[in-house]
Amino acid sequence: MCINVVVFLHFWISFGHLLSLLEQAKKKEYRLKDICDENRAKALAKKSESSIALKIYIMKIIAIGRNYIDHAKELNNPVPENPIIFLKPDTAVLKDNKDFYYPEFSKNIQFETEVVLRICKEGKHVTQKFASTYFDAVGLGIDFTARDVQQELKAKSLPWELAKAFDHSAVISNLIPKEELADVNSIDFSLQQNGQTVQQGNTKDMIFSYEDLIVYTSKFITLRKGDLIYTGTPVGVGPVAIGDLLEGFIGEQKMFSCKIK
Ligand code: MG
Repeated sequence: MCINVVVFLHFWISFGHLLSLLEQAKKKEYRLKDICDENRAKALAKKSESSIALKIYIMKIIAIGRNYIDHAKELNNPVPENPIIFLKPDTAVLKDNKDFYYPEFSKNIQFETEVVLRICKEGKHVTQKFASTYFDAVGLGIDFTARDVQQELKAKSLPWELAKAFDHSAVISNLIPKEELADVNSIDFSLQQNGQTVQQGNTKDMIFSYEDLIVYTSKFITLRKGDLIYTGTPVGVGPVAIGDLLEGFIGEQKMFSCKIK
């Protein structure tokens, strides 16, 4: 009997000691967690401060799909009633005639040559009358598209971003102030692939004019100074291959060159 009481007391004390150790460990863990969280919170705060600061200076790329009737038809798409809009991030920009590296996730990267507008002031609910004052310069670009990825996404009714917004998918030339163009609403542009003209168009054939695009887009998305609008591609889109040289022209003026690597 006496031995049983001693064993029980011993067990009870050990159990109590064990509980106390667990409690201490728990407290220690919480303390560590608090410190970690505090550090993490500080790091996040610092990161978020710098992201916010950066975001102020980062422009966005607004791109327009199916803005030329013949191009809509070549991809068996209906002619849209309103502009079709998608976005590319700033990481999509490929400028200064840099090379384009064929991404591993696609076997069908295609060029889409497009006239690009630079937005020169902030605009929300811009009216048709003043829309032309919201861009001050024009360039030429390529909206590189992973067509195979896009077809898969379209078949599943999913957004196009992975086919359109990938790194370096937005070639952009230097910009020309719009006053320097003979007629900003009638820009002849073309693309040569290895010296052969593969795509040409004129902006007067766009379904939606620059002004229409600015008015419509700014109903949904605030335009900011430095944003770019890729105004859509004419008929003649096609695949690129490693080793190709792409050269874009406005009239006779060479705007960019881009090697596919
Ligand atoms: Mg396009």
